[in-house]
Amino acid sequence: MSYTKEEIIRRVKEEDIEFIRLQFTDIFGQLKNVAITASQIEKAVNNQIMFDGSSIEGFVRIDESDQYLYPDLDSFAVFPWRPSHGKVARLICDVYNPDGTPFVGDPRYVLKRVLKKAQDMGYDAFNVGPEAEFFLFQTDDEGKPTIKTNDEAGYFDLGPLDHGEGTRREICMALEQMGFEIEASHHEVAQGQHEIDFKYAEALRTADNIMTFKLAVKTLAQKNGLHATFMPKPIFGINGSGMHTNMSLFRGGKNVFYDADGEKGLSREAYSFIAGLLHHVKGMAAVTNPLVNSYKRLVPGYEAPCYLAWSASNRSALIRIPAARGQSTRVELRSPDPACNPYLELAVCLAAGLDGIEKGMTPPAEVTENIFAMDQETRKAKGIDSLPGSLEEAIAALESDQLILDTLGEHVAANYIEGKKKEWDEFRTRVSSWERDKYIINY
Ligand code: GLN
Ligand code: MG
Ligand code: MG
Ligand code: MG
Repeated sequence: MSYTKEEIIRRVKEEDIEFIRLQFTDIFGQLKNVAITASQIEKAVNNQIMFDGSSIEGFVRIDESDQYLYPDLDSFAVFPWRPSHGKVARLICDVYNPDGTPFVGDPRYVLKRVLKKAQDMGYDAFNVGPEAEFFLFQTDDEGKPTIKTNDEAGYFDLGPLDHGEGTRREICMALEQMGFEIEASHHEVAQGQHEIDFKYAEALRTADNIMTFKLAVKTLAQKNGLHATFMPKPIFGINGSGMHTNMSLFRGGKNVFYDADGEKGLSREAYSFIAGLLHHVKGMAAVTNPLVNSYKRLVPGYEAPCYLAWSASNRSALIRIPAARGQSTRVELRSPDPACNPYLELAVCLAAGLDGIEKGMTPPAEVTENIFAMDQETRKAKGIDSLPGSLEEAIAALESDQLILDTLGEHVAANYIEGKKKEWDEFRTRVSSWERDKYIINY
């Protein structure tokens, strides 16, 4: 949808909207908001709402803390799960400095910078469709999340709706009321695991949509007495949750990844984009897979990628080319997980792909065999590298990938790396129950 300031002011008055949440995202992917009452809407749409950025992690120092929120008018939406009188609406905002320049620590600005670069290279759209997976868990008597589910995997297509399915249905309906087009919604492989796919859009809108999606999923789960989590690997021994990311580039309304005469119907640009992704995917991992826990998902046996390979058919590959061609030709990156900051994620994906195109990179040969069945020797002989095995390795890979550092920009890169190192160190020094179980008797 596209709105003018006047339309938004009028809707707030006429539709009995009481509160407007001005939303933005911190560098670690947490949704933040400043709530204003309807009386402030004129100020808000004129970019005059200020907040104290020093209290947001990774934002600014105390002495330069005033920041302004510039709403993206097209993001105006009413939350369907709030009361129907005294409604609550939201506007997604860009963060600006008092001098009217965009704030370099705003993840949305990080993505906008790469989109501008794509535009300068002649691409008018970078379309992205995400496939976010999540778990719905029961809560205990105090409302705290458990890791219990009450659905049996596979049950969904047989009997009456179980609690999880009913909740998923409500999530889909709420998202549709907010303007999402839901393309698929299904139970995933693991018990209690679900996936909802919404229609692709240009990258900035998709990143906004992912933030809205996570909020809707969490809110509606809670309303139903469940807890929704996008934690990448909540339970050892079963599938984790990924966020496969389907990408395509357009020039003059045409999908540039498609070439009817190219090998497998793919253009040179598509191959170079893939090569760029493969080249930078290790440096990107701290962004696409941001948690200590992310690396527990990226292990063999659970449909998550671990090795650096691409394939047109093989689902075990890190990069897959779904069968569709023509305008729907796309590259699916399967490593990202839904805990990532989607603005930064899409920024590094696009930057890596564009780097491949700019440098005319060529990807290694397609791998059609099951890489998980190969032993280490065979993989080595074929030159198949692995994703980082831990957040620590991922941070090191990020620190040595100048393109990804430049894409994040100095401010975000420094704060992000500092935060992630702290997170790793907290984990590294804790004693886990696995260690006690393993060692306390024998040693
Ligand atoms: N859950 C798997 C992952 O971690 C994906 C499963 C699927 O969508 N086929 O990526
Ligand atoms: Mg899927
Ligand atoms: Mg899936
Ligand atoms: Mg997929």
